[in-house]
Amino acid sequence: MPADPWVEAHAFLRPVAELSAAVDRAAAGIDVRDARIPAWDDYQADFLAGVPLLSSATAGVDLEPGGRMAVALIESLAAGTSPGWLAAETGALDAHLRLAPNASRRIPGFLLGDEALDPPFPGLLRYLAWTAMARFLRPLVVAFDGCRDEDRWLRRYCPTCGSLPAMAQLTGADPGRKRLLSCGCCGTRWQFKRTGCPFCETDSQRLASVTIEGEGGLRIDHCESCRGYLKTYDGQGQEALLLSDWSSLHLDLLAHDRGLKRLAGSLYEFEPARDS
Ligand SMILES: [Zn+2]
Ligand SMILES: [Zn+2]
Repeated sequence: MPADPWVEAHAFLRPVAELSAAVDRAAAGIDVRDARIPAWDDYQADFLAGVPLLSSATAGVDLEPGGRMAVALIESLAAGTSPGWLAAETGALDAHLRLAPNASRRIPGFLLGDEALDPPFPGLLRYLAWTAMARFLRPLVVAFDGCRDEDRWLRRYCPTCGSLPAMAQLTGADPGRKRLLSCGCCGTRWQFKRTGCPFCETDSQRLASVTIEGEGGLRIDHCESCRGYLKTYDGQGQEALLLSDWSSLHLDLLAHDRGLKRLAGSLYEFEPARDS
């Protein structure tokens, strides 16, 4: 694997970078099915009412093929040459899913909040299943981006899957500079108020930010009212890496040390990475 300069400069990120790369390699080896694009007119009323696309009965997006991709990804990681703990934990997940009737239907339910599946290592299942599901949903996310009226959403949760944002991004130049919130689950980016806290929706004056020297345009925006914070990428061109959440776990530690609370959605354990 070619060494990424960002990871080279942040050696403590190496275990999570390796995990992410191993999962991406396995995901690249499974068959991709594409989500069907719904008729947008059918979804419009739900959209205006604030119902995320995947929760909308009238849009009716079938997530079962994405669930099948998640099952295949876990099977591949369990059978492959993953490092110690990953092989053991994906092996236990694989065994659990084999015994669960309709696993490929129940995984999407689990991702959207149904707790009936009760897997071992639920955090790992969320991470792996969202990795597969995001690949399945990519054409849908792109199509939804192209037709969504951003001014009529402006909500604090993802218009596609309903998750809270993992991070934010500032784009463009003044006037017209925008803040996008970034979903760590399905990969959607959507527009939100330029200032203002997405966790308690307080007024804009109470947001403060901490800029970190030499951190590629990353900063921490935090709310003085609820003490929640959002890692923010003030730049463009490196979205895949700098909005991946894992690539800035050290900023979470920094925020934690300042007494701030992580209220953002995340697929990553907010703890020092474990050894493989
Ligand atoms: Zn989402
Ligand atoms: Zn707040």
